[in-house]
Amino acid sequence: VAKQLEQFKATIFTQMSMLAITHGAINLGQGFPNFDGPEFVKEAAIQAIRDGNNQYARGFGVPDLNIAIAERFKKDTGLIVDPDNEITVTSGCTEAIAATVLGLINPGEEVILFAPFYDSYGATLSMAGANIKSITLRPPDFAVPIDDLKSTISKNTRAILINTPHNPTGKMFTREELDSVASLCIENDVLVFTDEVYHKLAFDMEHISIATSPGMFERTVTMNSLGKSFSLTGWKVGWAIAPPHLMWGVRQAHTYIAFSISHPLQCGAAAALRAPDSYYVELKRDYIAKRAILVEGLKAVGFKVFPTNGTFFVLADHTPFGHENDVAFCEYLIKEIGVAAIPLSVFYLNPEEGKNLVRFTFCKDEETIKAAVERMKEKL
Ligand code: GLN
Repeated sequence: VAKQLEQFKATIFTQMSMLAITHGAINLGQGFPNFDGPEFVKEAAIQAIRDGNNQYARGFGVPDLNIAIAERFKKDTGLIVDPDNEITVTSGCTEAIAATVLGLINPGEEVILFAPFYDSYGATLSMAGANIKSITLRPPDFAVPIDDLKSTISKNTRAILINTPHNPTGKMFTREELDSVASLCIENDVLVFTDEVYHKLAFDMEHISIATSPGMFERTVTMNSLGKSFSLTGWKVGWAIAPPHLMWGVRQAHTYIAFSISHPLQCGAAAALRAPDSYYVELKRDYIAKRAILVEGLKAVGFKVFPTNGTFFVLADHTPFGHENDVAFCEYLIKEIGVAAIPLSVFYLNPEEGKNLVRFTFCKDEETIKAAVERMKEKL
């Protein structure tokens, strides 16, 4: 394996899901719904296959999907973008991140991450030869430490990668935090790459895109996907939105990584993005109910639970149960209790920082969440 990938193992999500299967554990680890996406979206994709949309799609996206993404983005943010020059459709947000980083970052340039951070960010930045700087968001509220950010930004900083609502903490960036990040970026001529795949799972506060902060659109790549908003994580349809001078780099990288994305699924995605507002209202209502079941359940089991404002994740402190660290706790939880969670240490440059924390997901039907809670109540 190439040097820049040597340190990365099978992802923690794959590891924990495989272990969960081996031990018959209920999987509240890897974030994928155990219920299906909406019928009208699946129908649109099936129809697209029947209609013969089965050859390569346009490299940067099926025209109708690019239009639907622009319409959705305008509804969500008020920003008007050109579907053909400012949007590229990618293989999920993960490829959008890779194309953005590989297309815009030179080897040796610094990119700032907020830890805990999603595992693909580190691996992708490493492939690009970037110099990773990490700033830790600390419990209980995981607020952005602006002074740390100020002292970390240097002449070599090319970009800051943010994620809101934030996986794994459930934290959402506030307007004040985003404005402070924005003004530092403008002052220091730094780009922002923002992963907003959980934007429709914003429960207690409004989701804000940093591209809407004054002066930010021209230095921001906004990334999103279909998977979480439509419970279709296996479709792997995502996209990046950026002004043409940044989109050029993203698109060049995308062209040579993936060339183009599944044609019929893009047709289905276009139908999805034209869903009425009531679809999102219901989605949110369902997730708020699931969150309550899991959070109350975990508290009853004896965990210290951190508040989660968005995403379908919740963080818990496992130390009341007396295990050495998060990995040992998660192994015990799968093998002896029959429930899978994700240890947090893999989301930090320094694993010590995550050793007391584990992540549970509530993107499962209510019976599954309740059954997991029951197992923990009985045996933990
Ligand atoms: N995004 C999902 C999560 O955080 C995992 C996706 C994956 O397995 N790579 O659980």
